[in-house]
Amino acid sequence: MAKYIFVTGGVTSSLGKGIIAASLAKLLQARGFRVTIQKLDPYINIDPGTLNPYEHGECYVTEDGAETDLDLGHYERFLNIYTSQANNVTTGKIYQTVIDRERAGDFLGKTVQVVPHITDEIKRRMVLLGNDGNYDIVITEIGGTVGDIESLPFIEAVRQLQWELPEGDVCVIHLTLIPYLRAAKELKTKPTQHSVKMLSETGVHPDIIVCRTEEPLNNDLKRKIALFCNVKVEAVIEAMDASTIYEVPLAMLREKLDIICLRKLNTTLVPEADLSKWKNFLEKLKYPKSKVSIGLIGKYMELQDAYKSILESFIHAGAMNEVKVEVVNLHSEGINARHVKEKLEGLDGLLVAPGFGQRGIEGKIIAVQYAREKGLPFFGICLGMQMAAIEFARNVLGIEKAHSTEMDAQTPDPVIDMMEEQKKITLKGGTMRLGAYPCEIKPGTLAHHIYGKTLISERHRHRYEFNNNYLEQFEANGMIASGINPESGLVEIIEAKGHPFFIGVQYHPELKSTVEKPAPLFVEFIAAAKNYNEMRSAYKNPLLQSEMI
Ligand code: GLN
Repeated sequence: MAKYIFVTGGVTSSLGKGIIAASLAKLLQARGFRVTIQKLDPYINIDPGTLNPYEHGECYVTEDGAETDLDLGHYERFLNIYTSQANNVTTGKIYQTVIDRERAGDFLGKTVQVVPHITDEIKRRMVLLGNDGNYDIVITEIGGTVGDIESLPFIEAVRQLQWELPEGDVCVIHLTLIPYLRAAKELKTKPTQHSVKMLSETGVHPDIIVCRTEEPLNNDLKRKIALFCNVKVEAVIEAMDASTIYEVPLAMLREKLDIICLRKLNTTLVPEADLSKWKNFLEKLKYPKSKVSIGLIGKYMELQDAYKSILESFIHAGAMNEVKVEVVNLHSEGINARHVKEKLEGLDGLLVAPGFGQRGIEGKIIAVQYAREKGLPFFGICLGMQMAAIEFARNVLGIEKAHSTEMDAQTPDPVIDMMEEQKKITLKGGTMRLGAYPCEIKPGTLAHHIYGKTLISERHRHRYEFNNNYLEQFEANGMIASGINPESGLVEIIEAKGHPFFIGVQYHPELKSTVEKPAPLFVEFIAAAKNYNEMRSAYKNPLLQSEMI
């Protein structure tokens, strides 16, 4: 039988519930438990697939092709396990299931209501992952903030489960904020008291209170929170702001969050947490030997969360290479032929990000051309790969009007075109080419060197693809398709011969990068940037220059 931990949030959003949940999961995993995490989101969209990144940050795609909340990315990166369709549930999905059942006649004669029908469906999803014996502990993060109208049925479902499941099978953690008032030089507990009170009014009493804070909590303060919020003093956990999210598991270990949870869950089996690999990674992350600057070109640059998995993959790959990866955000709309040199000449590598739609794409194409011609390490992901194909067609093959039919439906040269199976689809939600697909790599190519094997599997999220009618011309002129889907023949990887590192991938390697297993493409891209940086410094240094001759 699995045990269940629920994580709720109070006072404000963006307190990092996902990171706390993932950190706790990491500690429990390091103690030998089989753990998974799921996110329940109270919004009505079926999934975040149709949401603009400005609304909801990156859309994270799982192996089985679910478009999910970006917190699932944290879960996978921390735990090095795959999540799935079942790990992200929204109010939309809950209602859709209940309404479908109503139409099928499952509730004949009954009035369908929030309680018990919606809450029953929420409870079913809450325990689902724990049903088949694959996990010892299931952590459920409830999106939103306690007190929101839309999260009420979820909190009610937690209340019911607290009663229905055996004593010791459920633990509720409430994450809250202890603000520091600079003028008074004091940490304030009142918002936390209110938020716990509000949670208690709905019948859910937290067992543990995790306090986000800028300043350390002293014992008096912990005692005060314990007293007012009805928890034991040791169940008041300090979560200080950390310099990196990867510090948080160790901070939670120091605060004994895992032990307190396990005690609440009546678990006796508690071997010491083995976090040696994690600590090793953190050591490399904190003490890099050198630095590389990578230009990240996209159109949602104002928002850090829009490219979350890419930024995290840089962190993993940087630690692996023992360099600090400094990411220079470049807005694609701000790049034009006149200024491109000025904007890109200080960089050691260029990544053109995934994306949709027309805005800013000419800037991306100009940047790709610069990287290709100057020998600057280049890495294009999804739309970035498509832009690299268009740039090559226009500037090397002389196909002036080459374009993607996504941006120009009438182009005479659709180098990037909509996939056949996409042409009949009219609905937008969940209909892209999604999830993991195999890719066969040609021996002797850069891609082969990077992956060290000829068959890989990576995750996708796109509607357009490289048009194979142009492949022969591309390959004859030095841009080769080094990775192909063995079943459909779709081009998955292109690379420029003779360039130190120029690679574009139709898939999203950033979705599979974890602390334990950084994505090979990112690791080698950063290695190439490091080489480029070293070569540039050597080139600038006249002493070394003469030595090199
Ligand atoms: N817009 C492009 C497509 O649909 C690329 C998508 C992406 O970058 N994820 O094919």
